[in-house]
Amino acid sequence: MQFIDLKAQQARIREDIEARLKVILDHGRYVMGPEIDEIEESLANFSGAKYGLGCASGTDALLLALLAKGIGPGDAILTTPFTFIATAEVVSLLNAVPVFVDIDPKTFNMDPAALEKTILAMESGAGDLPLPKTDNLPKPKGIIAVDLFGQVADYARIEAIAEKHGLFVVEDAAQSFGGLQNGKRACSFGDVACTSFFPAKPLGCYGDGGMCFTDDEELDKIMRSLRMHGQGDDRYDNVRIGINGRIDSFQAAVLISKFSIFPEELDLRQKAAERYNSLLAGSDKVVTPFVEEGNQSAWAQYTLKAAKPEWRDQLLKHLQEQGVPTAVYYPKPLHRQDAFADLGYAKGDFPVSDDCAARVFSLPMHPYISEEDQEAVAKAILSFEVK
Ligand SMILES: *Cc1c(COP(=O)(O)O)cnc(C)c1O
Repeated sequence: MQFIDLKAQQARIREDIEARLKVILDHGRYVMGPEIDEIEESLANFSGAKYGLGCASGTDALLLALLAKGIGPGDAILTTPFTFIATAEVVSLLNAVPVFVDIDPKTFNMDPAALEKTILAMESGAGDLPLPKTDNLPKPKGIIAVDLFGQVADYARIEAIAEKHGLFVVEDAAQSFGGLQNGKRACSFGDVACTSFFPAKPLGCYGDGGMCFTDDEELDKIMRSLRMHGQGDDRYDNVRIGINGRIDSFQAAVLISKFSIFPEELDLRQKAAERYNSLLAGSDKVVTPFVEEGNQSAWAQYTLKAAKPEWRDQLLKHLQEQGVPTAVYYPKPLHRQDAFADLGYAKGDFPVSDDCAARVFSLPMHPYISEEDQEAVAKAILSFEVK
């Protein structure tokens, strides 16, 4: 049994991918070839955003969004500590300060009430909330909300708070491409949405890749320039400091091919998640994923919580003995990472994130997982006994 089976998917589209790669070998436009325009247009259409901008990774997508917003020293970006490092890393890379906000214990996404409290505490300089221990408190400029494990965050509330306080919103949709909220797709929320095409993500390529989505023509233009060393009217005219953040034609071709079966794969993921839900419904050892009314997850991960934190590692050992691969996303929240030590946060500052980090684990999840494998996984979980 595999945690994510990319081979089963490849078997379906291998010939198409080979044909598309051959076209590139013939036309020779390895960088910024016609495949880039094609995938940008298809994915923007699918997501319901006006513009899609391919780039080198999900991390670069976030970096381009913050660069386009002019983020730098003295600025604060609010985000959650229960996410992949890249979400907050790009903030620090620009010498701005990530300010953490705790999550909702059921969805694992940013808790809008905690967000508003944190912004108010920063504006007044008062309150007993944990804030970064920097000499001068940075000024809140934007919010990066994360659609963790594939479920779209609560943008209705987050965007209302952002508007009230004059902040921009970035949707970190690295895990949620294809997810839905009240009929709207992931990557259509916030001022800019950023996704990743790392192979293990819901829509992955065969290397690194990412995309920014926006409805804002001016922002799209700036990000396009930033992606190409701050290019102006032509290649040797540079109007701002940018990066080399392009996606290559090979990766775009792989995405075109994979996207042709992606809507079907989303349905298969949803069915697999429902099957796990019903197989595990009777367990008192685990809590199955909670999906908010009106949401459909892209199921980047099927993540359970051990009913008690002290059971998690015993349960993982038991599953390993039964031949079931698992993973823990994320064992150490960002406020406790050495990389962010200079922010001065401590364990306990974000109790929900700390609790989730101690209890979560993810099961094998991909569109091609068989019923038998899912039954075997469930059987292994149901046979777990606390020592
Ligand atoms: C994967 C991921 C990223 C970064 O994407 P890369 O393509 O690996 O750079 C950012 N944020 C989240 C939440 C992710 O899961």
